[in-house]
Amino acid sequence: MELLKKRITKDGKALSENILKVDSFLNHQIDPSLMDKIADEFCGKFSGTAFNKILTVESSGIAPAVMTGLKMGIPVVFAKKAKPSTMNEEYYSATVHSFTKQKNYEISVLSKFIKKGDRILIIDDFLANGSASRALIAIAEQGGAKIDGIGIVIEKGFQNGGKLLRELGYRIESLAIIDEMSLNSIRFRD
Ligand code: 5GP
Repeated sequence: MELLKKRITKDGKALSENILKVDSFLNHQIDPSLMDKIADEFCGKFSGTAFNKILTVESSGIAPAVMTGLKMGIPVVFAKKAKPSTMNEEYYSATVHSFTKQKNYEISVLSKFIKKGDRILIIDDFLANGSASRALIAIAEQGGAKIDGIGIVIEKGFQNGGKLLRELGYRIESLAIIDEMSLNSIRFRD
């Protein structure tokens, strides 16, 4: 997605060779107009698949997921990182290893929001080593749902999450794939 690549080039900041900061349009301040176009791209790429639900993880996956859910006309469920005290109902959970924070944490979804036979589109802001996506897949599977696609805003192609998940047979559509990054340059895959 050219517009996204241009925006990453203009406003993204590589904090190191493997961490990209995009807090001016995706991870802190959000550009709704860009989210709208991102959602159009996801709708186009997944146009042949009849999803009935989007699954993401708080917080940065929510904006692109909600925009896409609006256009697809389907609900969006986000996995919670902190288990709230109101979660006294049955829930599914899985462990994520945070690449950026270098620690493990649990994510959970109330079981009433994932149903057997659901056809789920996972959406997330970044794909690095694939831990967040794999945890969302595990949660969906606990509920008997099927993952029919994974939509990623920014994939870091030099980390192995995309390769791993594609080898497992998942259909991943990434709107921008970064093959190499340094403090002053970002190289995208064509
Ligand atoms: P993974 O689980 O695939 O290793 O990493 C994906 C998750 O980690 C995303 O949900 C995202 O929040 C975070 N993440 C991974 N790499 C980056 C990065 O370079 N920049 C930012 N801002 N977040 C990242």
